[in-house]
Amino acid sequence: MLHNSARAIDMSLHLHSQTDPRRHEQEGPFVISSGDGVHVHDDTGKRYIEGMAGLWTASLGFNDARLAAAAGAQFARLANYHTFNHRSNEACIDLMEQIAAISPLAPCKIFFANSGSEANDSMIRLAWYYQAARGMPHKRRIISRQGAFHGSTVMGALLSGLPHMHRSFGTNSDDILYATKPHLYREGHEGESEDDFADRLIHELEAMILKAGPDTIAAMIAEPVMAAGGVIVPPRDYFARLRQLLDRHDILLLADEVVCGFGRTGNWFGSQTFDFVPDMFSVAKGLSSGYLPIAAVVVSDRLYQAIADEGHRNGGFGHGFTYSGHPVTSAVAAEALRIYHEIDVVGRARALGSHMHAALHEALADHPMVGEIRGVGLIAGVELVADRRTRQSFPAEAKVGAQVERACRARGIILRNMGDVLALCPPYIVEPEQLDELVHALALAIEDTRTSLGL
Ligand code: PMP
Repeated sequence: MLHNSARAIDMSLHLHSQTDPRRHEQEGPFVISSGDGVHVHDDTGKRYIEGMAGLWTASLGFNDARLAAAAGAQFARLANYHTFNHRSNEACIDLMEQIAAISPLAPCKIFFANSGSEANDSMIRLAWYYQAARGMPHKRRIISRQGAFHGSTVMGALLSGLPHMHRSFGTNSDDILYATKPHLYREGHEGESEDDFADRLIHELEAMILKAGPDTIAAMIAEPVMAAGGVIVPPRDYFARLRQLLDRHDILLLADEVVCGFGRTGNWFGSQTFDFVPDMFSVAKGLSSGYLPIAAVVVSDRLYQAIADEGHRNGGFGHGFTYSGHPVTSAVAAEALRIYHEIDVVGRARALGSHMHAALHEALADHPMVGEIRGVGLIAGVELVADRRTRQSFPAEAKVGAQVERACRARGIILRNMGDVLALCPPYIVEPEQLDELVHALALAIEDTRTSLGL
């Protein structure tokens, strides 16, 4: 166990990401000290199956030796360099070759960043630049969706459709429009079929576009599966129809593949699972299995050509980060991609995903507190409800999802609750028996919570 004074330091000094600060002052940190495959250990030595791969990140678990070796070798060879003014390095060249080989956009160009937020910010800057380059600088607005999560930089937060990301920060912009999230269970009308629901969403979106004026809108950004918004899987055809609608109004489609990228939904990219081709897409997290901060934007050739002409006229393309294409983060990501091919993450996500979804349905489909089990590939969400028939949620103050999350930890698994949705997003190296263990512990944790609530 970490020394008490160390816990006290965290309580007194650490302004934690996405945490209730006053509760943290009372309860202190949950300290993770080591990792071992899909397991992590806390500072008391307790072992957990990490069912969320950290923050949707650690695709290869928590101590992959090859990634450590790749980092070590690159540190010894060249630990820092930049990519401004035509500079490059072998590690980022190796990585780009591998990204391009699986990119649904071909030919493409690749821009590097350090986080999902920066990659999404970059997509917006690129969209504006592209629109200006083709003589349409008035196309500025961006469509996002309620429930979306696109990051925590100013633009990432603006794009996010989660109320607590805006409340008291005062971030609101007339330039961001939020469409309805494509979640039939919560947003569908009574008796509405999946197709009718998709139809309605597309019509509503078209009305929104016409009202704002297509000439004022640059792009729409969307996660193929909305992760932090509650693991929302869209209706079949939603994205194909969205693509047609946006094309009709000359609006770009930007895919946020930060969670879905690199196999998660059972294809290399979520856009392939949902059958659409974006104009650009962002990746992060799984790009390096979360081992080092690296992200990228993959840009279609059509956009690149206009951007390149504009950059040439403007005295250079005025965008880029000190650590874009950093040699060490690139070397680790390149090694991660090699391992993804070797262990066939796409095939594993499909096979393990079917196993996980079957186990979740068997354990929880009839549970009185479970309203919906959803997901695709190796990602799932379990939504808790007070009443299955009416789909009534628990009152937010009851923090039922947080109670289940704590009960999960007591039973040796780590999941994440987003409100009353429990998310599962295990590393691809998980074994079927470990998925069974995970689901079994989740079912028991929900029962524990039911008992403590007296239901
Ligand atoms: N997009 C999505 C879909 C995400 O889930 C996240 C992070 N959870 C981000 C963007 C932001 O990534 P980062 O925290 O690396 O900036």
